[in-house]
Amino acid sequence: MILAIDQGTTGTRALLFELDGRVRASAYREHRQRFPRPGWVEHDLTEIWERTLAVCGEALAGAGARPGQVQALGITNQRETLCAFDADSGEPLAPAIVWQDRRTAERCAQLREAGHEARVRELTGLLLDPYFTATKIAWLLEQDAELAQRARRGRARFGTIDSYLAFRLCGEHVSDASNASRTALMDIRGGGWSEELCELFGGIPIGALPEICPSAGVIGRTSAERFHGHAIPLAGIAGDQQAALFAHGCLREGDAKNTYGTGSFLLVNAGSSFAPPPEGLLETIAWRLGDRDTFALEGSIFVTGAAIQWLRDGLAIIADAAESEALASSLADNEGVYFVPALTGLGSPRFLPEARGSISGLTRGSTRAHLARAALEAIAYQSADVIDAVAAQRGLVLAELRVDGGASANRFLMQFQADILGIPVVVAPHAEMTALGAAALAGLGAGLIGEQEISGLLGATQRYEPQMDEGTRARLRAGWARALAGVIAAAGP
Ligand code: ADP
Repeated sequence: MILAIDQGTTGTRALLFELDGRVRASAYREHRQRFPRPGWVEHDLTEIWERTLAVCGEALAGAGARPGQVQALGITNQRETLCAFDADSGEPLAPAIVWQDRRTAERCAQLREAGHEARVRELTGLLLDPYFTATKIAWLLEQDAELAQRARRGRARFGTIDSYLAFRLCGEHVSDASNASRTALMDIRGGGWSEELCELFGGIPIGALPEICPSAGVIGRTSAERFHGHAIPLAGIAGDQQAALFAHGCLREGDAKNTYGTGSFLLVNAGSSFAPPPEGLLETIAWRLGDRDTFALEGSIFVTGAAIQWLRDGLAIIADAAESEALASSLADNEGVYFVPALTGLGSPRFLPEARGSISGLTRGSTRAHLARAALEAIAYQSADVIDAVAAQRGLVLAELRVDGGASANRFLMQFQADILGIPVVVAPHAEMTALGAAALAGLGAGLIGEQEISGLLGATQRYEPQMDEGTRARLRAGWARALAGVIAAAGP
């Protein structure tokens, strides 16, 4: 068996997989979200460590696993979140600053005004945004003189959640290349930490950063004494979105996956050479196998499933998310009604934080069915816009789109997505794609499975073929483009 830890923003899940990808046991626990000031989001790292140990214990017990039966451990995690911990004990030295935390917005704006964004983009494939880890470390070093002192003396360590868990589990201070590429401190073409970026972000001591390791390969072993009697080789690590891309078997250039959750993350395998990404997209390391990096283009759409939540909670016109499917299907056409769900600004491929949502094309005949349909269609149009940006800038033409996430259960949405893209949509059979990806990397890293077996782990997928004629597709996309243009214009110059 292979144990996977999925340390997410809301909670931590442990899954025990058979070598063929079937789930033998799982356990999940939430942890507290702390909002000490407006825009700040923190996690307690001790709590995360305790929850991680607890869910692993439950999953191991649930499967009746005896020592030696679990042959590899994989970690996947919420990305970009900063952990600071003691170089000996691994005890946290500060609360984790979560990826959602906006406390460094001003610092990012200053760096942008000083003209540093182009260089950051060229070196990292990312943007100057508080989302990424670099300015979070700079903030901590500035605020906490004692911590800064410790860091200079080599007594403090920094890293993302994977590096914190790897240290606590195995005593190794490592981070895999996919996680390291999200810090904005890595020269992703060169493959290592960048002194220039450490300097730019306020003198971050490189020695306090983890060693960057491959995403598959044995790093160390859990201590049996502290890990429920099991000494398991830690053999795979990847950030959550990259792990999902791997689990979908998107191993060749142009293979793409979209996860339909609260928002959507669309990742396209961009092959083995890095080029700075087109406007509105990020480029990141998908995984490092041996010394070979595979890159991915990434688009983040902020509001997709959340638009359906808003119909339920904000407007109270549906009782649950699944009801949107029957409502949307009750109409033969959107009848000109469009919903641009820019409820928290627009993400990829526009990045317009000031944008606000709109519903247009209403008539006396419009009903809640029109709103449900417009919300679901909007999920598909936004994803299509990201795919178009990838195609336009890189010439990567997708043969199909592999998908997962809560809203992928919606058959109307999946058919409409296939219709609007004009390519098949392939739905994953299970919800735990991130954990499956971590398990697959660990299996590969421990030599339990081969690269050609990865796509077989997924199990039976469901396929939606495009059926819409070209004229209808063009009419609908033109209608969406007009509605979107209205939202962009309203956001001002
Ligand atoms: P996250 O990981 O972001 O919490 P999930 O993958 O659990 O998200 O998906 C939850 C989201 O999917 C919610 O925003 C919900 O509105 C949406 N959702 C769930 N089921 C459906 C459905 N049948 N149709 C449309 N949207 C759905």
